[in-house]
Parts: sequence; C-alpha cells; structure tokens
Amino acid sequence: MPPPASLCVFCGARFGIDPATRDTAVRLGALLAREGITLVYGGGGVGLMGLVANAALADGATVVGVIPQFLLEREAGHPALTKTVVVETMHERKLQMFERSDAFVVLPGGLGTLEEFFEVLSWRTLGLHSKPIVIVDQGGYWEPLAALLRGVVEGGFADRTHLDHVAFVSDLDDLLPTIAAMPRAAGPEKKLDRV
Ligand code: AMP
Repeated sequence: MPPPASLCVFCGARFGIDPATRDTAVRLGALLAREGITLVYGGGGVGLMGLVANAALADGATVVGVIPQFLLEREAGHPALTKTVVVETMHERKLQMFERSDAFVVLPGGLGTLEEFFEVLSWRTLGLHSKPIVIVDQGGYWEPLAALLRGVVEGGFADRTHLDHVAFVSDLDDLLPTIAAMPRAAGPEKKLDRV
C-alpha cells in the first residue's frame, strides 16, 4: 500500500505529565512533513495538538485544521495553518476530519481523544470505512485502552476481528510501515444474535 496522502492525528489539547510525549508529538509532525503527508487535526494551538502542528509546519508540511467556532478561543485556533476550516459543531468537526484523511493516528490524549478514536473505530466495525487506525502507545499510556478493548472482546460484546482494525505501536518508526500493512477490507461481519 502507498503511504497515506493525508493523516488525521487525534491527541491531547494538554501536554500530559510525561515530557517524552511532547517529543513524540514533535517527531510525528516532522515525520509527516518529511514524508509529504498532509496533517489533518483539530486546528488548535494548545497541548500536543499544537506541538504536532507546529513541528509539521516548521518542516514545510501542509496542515489542515478543523475547529468549531466556539472553540477558537479556548483551543487557541492556530493562526498559521495551511488551511483552517471553521465549523459549527463538534459533529461537523469530526466528519470533516474523517473525510479529509486516509488514516488515523492517536497520540496520548484525554476524553476528546478517546471520543474521536472510538468513533472512527466503531464506524470501521460497521463497515463505514476502511481507513487504518494506529495508536501510538507512548510510554505505555494506552495500555489500559488496549486492555479495555481486549476485555470487550472477551466479554462477548465485539468480535475478535474488530481488533484487527486498530494497531498499537510504541515506536514512531513503526507508524508508516504499520499503516501500509494494515488490512483495508472489512472482514465478514458476524450476524448479531436475535432475541
Ligand atoms: P482532549 O483529548 O480531551 O485533550 O481533547 C482533544 C481534542 O478533542 C480537543 O480538540 C477537543 O476539543 C476535542 N474533543 C473534546 N470532546 C470531543 C467530542 N465529544 N467530540 C470531538 N472532539 C472532542
């Protein structure tokens, strides 16, 4: 598979407590610029989001931010992006980010990051798209999420094949090869049990 032309990054609007996470955010921005991949993100100038965007811009990447009007102040709408799309609602923001991206990458983040991740994963399990989703498990931050996903499968509320739609990497060097290797086609969907 060729590398994605555009990649959506979901990550924290804060920095988190592990300083190494900031380095990962900066390295991700630089990687996208080096590979000529357009960064699509939430358009803010805060936290890890801002770091990824600044690093990508500094190295000449195309960066598209999608931000709701009401968050322009709180999330410090980035003034220097290649393109800023101002939308009305959070739902519009997520749809625009989804439509403009060929793959999704999740860095450490908070509730917003989780929400964005679960939406693209659940849409994938419904067969609504076939875009790769990769979680960058910086310093083991996302291990509880991996355990939760395994628990949902073990509890009988999702198919084991659903976990094929998301990959975890701990090293950014593995990101693009992992995206290239991920299956694009949806597997056969198990019928749900009728009552
Ligand atoms: P957080 O991970 O909470 O730091 O938030 C990361 C980004 O997700 C920020 O740009 C938030 O505005 C955004 N966000 C927060 N809640 C939601 C939501 N329900 N849907 C979509 N994005 C959200």
